[in-house]
Amino acid sequence: MTAPTKPPHSHRADAGSDAPLALPLQETVIDWFDENARDLPWRRPEAGPWGVMVSEFMLQQTPVNRVLPIYEQWLARWPRPADLAKEAPGEAVRAWGRLGYPRRALRLHGAAVAIAERHGGDVPTDHAQLLALPGIGEYTAAAVASFAYGQRHPVLDTNVRRVFARAVTGVQYPPNATTAAERKLARTLLPDDERTAARWAAASMELGALVCTAKNESCHRCPIAALCAWQLAGKPEHDGPPRRGQTYA
Ligand code: SF4
Repeated sequence: MTAPTKPPHSHRADAGSDAPLALPLQETVIDWFDENARDLPWRRPEAGPWGVMVSEFMLQQTPVNRVLPIYEQWLARWPRPADLAKEAPGEAVRAWGRLGYPRRALRLHGAAVAIAERHGGDVPTDHAQLLALPGIGEYTAAAVASFAYGQRHPVLDTNVRRVFARAVTGVQYPPNATTAAERKLARTLLPDDERTAARWAAASMELGALVCTAKNESCHRCPIAALCAWQLAGKPEHDGPPRRGQTYA
């Protein structure tokens, strides 16, 4: 995850979609992000696309505070994909430490090898090329294209899906697996302007991570409380199918 730099023109200029709620949501959440974004190493310019990609692999199933030290060690040892690609895969697993789900280390190593072989050692900018790398799915390709390259893609992680479910759909939790309706909603809410869209992706994700959390959401300090469908409906309890266990929110 990273915070793309603020667009030179105000995001107020691009209404972006047909949904009447889209513009006030975009404006309010991006304004909140401007003030409240965490300073994380993969959001700094020096992280570059490789730093963003490494962080996305690590953050898939592990919380930020556990990722931070391993991320720093990893980038110090392998500052470019080609540095990792030269190592044996077992070294990647060893360096993964206690992050859990070490298969991710092997997948990241495989992606580094493919980047070295197919892309001259540079993380590709093109979404389809990112998606074609081993170990990279829809979410990670969109996240890297958006956070590393400032492109316009719906980025639907568990945090964003929860925010959209509550604020727009008016239910407590999103479905267990991402649906076509959620993808459509994400496209509807996406600002037209590329850089604003990338900022919106990071901002809506941060709101879900810090305020609209899975349990004990902090509506009293939420910037979109006055717009939130679930809050306005009196926060009805989840009545869908039983929720799958979540590793973390
Ligand atoms: S008002 Fe509450 S439920 Fe709605 S988006 Fe904000 S934190 Fe989430």
